[in-house]
Amino acid sequence: MEKDKLQYFKEKLLTLRRDLAEQVKASSRFGREIDEGTLDSGDKASDTYLKQMVFDRGENESRQLELIESALMKIRDEDYGICEECMGPIPEKRLEIVPYAKYCVRCKEELEKKETKVSQD
Ligand SMILES: [Zn+2]
Repeated sequence: MEKDKLQYFKEKLLTLRRDLAEQVKASSRFGREIDEGTLDSGDKASDTYLKQMVFDRGENESRQLELIESALMKIRDEDYGICEECMGPIPEKRLEIVPYAKYCVRCKEELEKKETKVSQD
Protein backbone atom coordinates (compact mmCIF):
# COMPACT_ATOMS: atom_id res chain seq x y z
CA MET A 1 0.00 0.00 0.00
CA GLU A 2 1.19 3.52 -0.78
CA LYS A 3 2.70 5.59 2.01
CA ASP A 4 0.05 8.31 1.94
CA LYS A 5 -2.69 5.67 2.09
CA LEU A 6 -0.98 4.07 5.07
CA GLN A 7 -0.82 7.46 6.74
CA TYR A 8 -4.49 8.00 6.03
CA PHE A 9 -5.54 4.71 7.65
CA LYS A 10 -3.12 5.25 10.50
CA GLU A 11 -4.84 8.51 11.37
CA LYS A 12 -8.22 6.81 11.12
CA LEU A 13 -7.06 4.09 13.51
CA LEU A 14 -5.57 6.56 15.96
CA THR A 15 -8.82 8.53 16.09
CA LEU A 16 -10.76 5.31 16.58
CA ARG A 17 -8.42 4.23 19.36
CA ARG A 18 -8.79 7.55 21.15
CA ASP A 19 -12.59 7.38 20.95
CA LEU A 20 -12.61 3.80 22.19
CA ALA A 21 -10.30 4.55 25.09
CA GLU A 22 -12.69 7.32 26.11
CA GLN A 23 -15.62 4.91 25.93
CA VAL A 24 -13.80 2.29 27.99
CA LYS A 25 -13.05 4.90 30.63
CA ALA A 26 -16.65 6.06 30.62
CA SER A 27 -18.11 2.57 30.94
CA SER A 28 -15.74 1.51 33.71
CA ARG A 29 -16.71 4.66 35.61
CA PHE A 30 -20.35 3.80 35.00
CA GLY A 31 -19.75 0.25 36.19
CA ARG A 32 -18.14 1.49 39.37
CA GLU A 33 -21.09 3.75 40.08
CA ILE A 34 -23.40 0.76 39.85
CA ASP A 35 -21.11 -1.21 42.18
CA GLU A 36 -20.96 1.57 44.71
CA GLY A 37 -24.70 1.97 44.55
CA THR A 38 -24.35 5.64 43.68
CA LEU A 39 -26.43 4.96 40.63
CA ASP A 40 -29.61 4.04 42.43
CA SER A 41 -32.25 2.57 40.21
CA GLY A 42 -34.03 1.10 43.23
CA ASP A 43 -34.39 -2.13 41.34
CA LYS A 44 -32.08 -5.10 41.88
CA ALA A 45 -32.99 -6.79 38.61
CA SER A 46 -32.18 -3.79 36.47
CA ASP A 47 -28.94 -3.27 38.42
CA THR A 48 -27.82 -6.75 37.41
CA TYR A 49 -28.85 -6.06 33.87
CA LEU A 50 -26.92 -2.80 33.81
CA LYS A 51 -23.81 -4.47 35.21
CA GLN A 52 -23.95 -7.15 32.55
CA MET A 53 -24.42 -4.55 29.84
CA VAL A 54 -21.43 -2.52 31.02
CA PHE A 55 -19.35 -5.67 31.23
CA ASP A 56 -20.32 -6.81 27.73
CA ARG A 57 -19.54 -3.40 26.30
CA GLY A 58 -16.17 -3.37 28.03
CA GLU A 59 -15.32 -6.78 26.57
CA ASN A 60 -16.24 -5.66 23.12
CA GLU A 61 -14.26 -2.46 23.35
CA SER A 62 -11.08 -4.04 24.64
CA ARG A 63 -11.27 -6.59 21.84
CA GLN A 64 -11.64 -3.81 19.34
CA LEU A 65 -8.71 -1.98 20.91
CA GLU A 66 -6.57 -5.09 20.44
CA LEU A 67 -7.53 -5.22 16.77
CA ILE A 68 -6.66 -1.55 16.37
CA GLU A 69 -3.29 -2.07 18.05
CA SER A 70 -2.39 -4.93 15.73
CA ALA A 71 -3.52 -2.92 12.71
CA LEU A 72 -1.26 -0.04 13.80
CA MET A 73 1.60 -2.51 14.14
CA LYS A 74 0.98 -3.70 10.59
CA ILE A 75 1.06 -0.13 9.35
CA ARG A 76 4.44 0.27 10.99
CA ASP A 77 5.69 -2.91 9.35
CA GLU A 78 4.07 -1.83 6.09
CA ASP A 79 2.03 -4.99 5.70
CA TYR A 80 -1.26 -3.32 6.46
CA GLY A 81 -4.26 -4.22 4.31
CA ILE A 82 -3.15 -7.83 3.74
CA CYS A 83 -5.58 -10.61 4.60
CA GLU A 84 -4.12 -12.85 7.33
CA GLU A 85 -5.79 -15.88 5.83
CA CYS A 86 -5.12 -15.79 2.07
CA MET A 87 -2.42 -13.05 2.09
CA GLY A 88 -4.41 -11.23 -0.57
CA PRO A 89 -5.12 -7.51 -0.39
CA ILE A 90 -8.09 -6.31 1.63
CA PRO A 91 -10.10 -3.88 -0.55
CA GLU A 92 -9.69 -0.27 0.55
CA LYS A 93 -13.47 0.11 0.56
CA ARG A 94 -13.59 -2.47 3.31
CA LEU A 95 -10.77 -0.83 5.26
CA GLU A 96 -12.66 2.42 4.97
CA ILE A 97 -15.50 0.87 6.98
CA VAL A 98 -13.41 -1.47 9.16
CA PRO A 99 -9.88 -0.02 9.27
CA TYR A 100 -8.77 -2.79 11.65
CA ALA A 101 -10.04 -5.65 9.47
CA LYS A 102 -7.74 -8.69 9.53
CA TYR A 103 -9.34 -10.58 6.68
CA CYS A 104 -10.78 -9.93 3.27
CA VAL A 105 -14.55 -10.34 2.91
CA ARG A 106 -14.33 -13.83 1.44
CA CYS A 107 -12.06 -15.20 4.18
CA LYS A 108 -14.11 -13.52 6.88
CA GLU A 109 -17.25 -15.16 5.56
CA GLU A 110 -15.51 -18.53 5.44
CA LEU A 111 -14.28 -18.12 9.01
CA GLU A 112 -17.71 -17.08 10.21
CA LYS A 113 -19.20 -20.20 8.69
CA LYS A 114 -16.77 -22.25 10.76
CA GLU A 115 -17.37 -20.32 13.94
CA THR A 116 -20.70 -20.73 15.61
CA LYS A 117 -20.74 -17.32 17.20
CA VAL A 118 -20.43 -14.20 15.07
CA SER A 119 -17.14 -12.45 15.66
CA GLN A 120 -16.61 -8.72 15.41
CA ASP A 121 -13.93 -8.97 12.85
ZN1 LIG B 1 -8.50 -13.48 2.47
